[in-house]
Amino acid sequence: MSNLQSGTIGCNCGKCEITVADNRAVQYFRCGCEDCRQGIEWRAAKSAVIPDQLPHGYYIPADIISTKGKEFMSAYKLREDGRSTRLYCNQCWSVIAVDHPAYQSNVFLIFPKHCVAECDLSVPLTAILFMKDYPKEYEPPPEDDVPLFYSFEYNQERNRFRSLPTVANTFKQRTDPLKGINFTALIDSLGTPKILGLEKGKRF
Ligand SMILES: [Zn+2]
Ligand SMILES: [Zn+2]
Repeated sequence: MSNLQSGTIGCNCGKCEITVADNRAVQYFRCGCEDCRQGIEWRAAKSAVIPDQLPHGYYIPADIISTKGKEFMSAYKLREDGRSTRLYCNQCWSVIAVDHPAYQSNVFLIFPKHCVAECDLSVPLTAILFMKDYPKEYEPPPEDDVPLFYSFEYNQERNRFRSLPTVANTFKQRTDPLKGINFTALIDSLGTPKILGLEKGKRF
């Protein structure tokens, strides 16, 4: 690939920052799942940012070429059995980024509303996910003409999801060489993630 432009993902207080070799988001979902909501709300309770009802999540290629303020970065899991690991600034509680085994360390997830992202977020919306968890009292979901997934409980749903071209390209193991370290390695370097032990269904 040529013409890569670097970008940064930082926190609101400016103490933490990740620089990536490629600033172009490769995937954009809106996610109704409980984990995205709790991960943001738990933090929002400690800051002044009002979360969107249906969060906007972007996936950034995980070529991390430098980091700033690692001593202020803390990794958390919502629950003991949680698969996602969330990186917060432990000073301003911005959600810097999220990792999940399904990302295969090729990309990581950011919520631009809850961090400071100097990245190219022009990638179009791919899908709306996990509407099974979306609270009934919230606004109706947007009417963008994209696939909407209620759950991933059934094979047909999972197959339909994996057959989306950008999904197959995003969540796959890296074949071309990585620049710097990936996000999983950054999280691992911070030690064992703390477990928040949040109760399922709890709101903040
Ligand atoms: Zn901060
Ligand atoms: Zn989610």
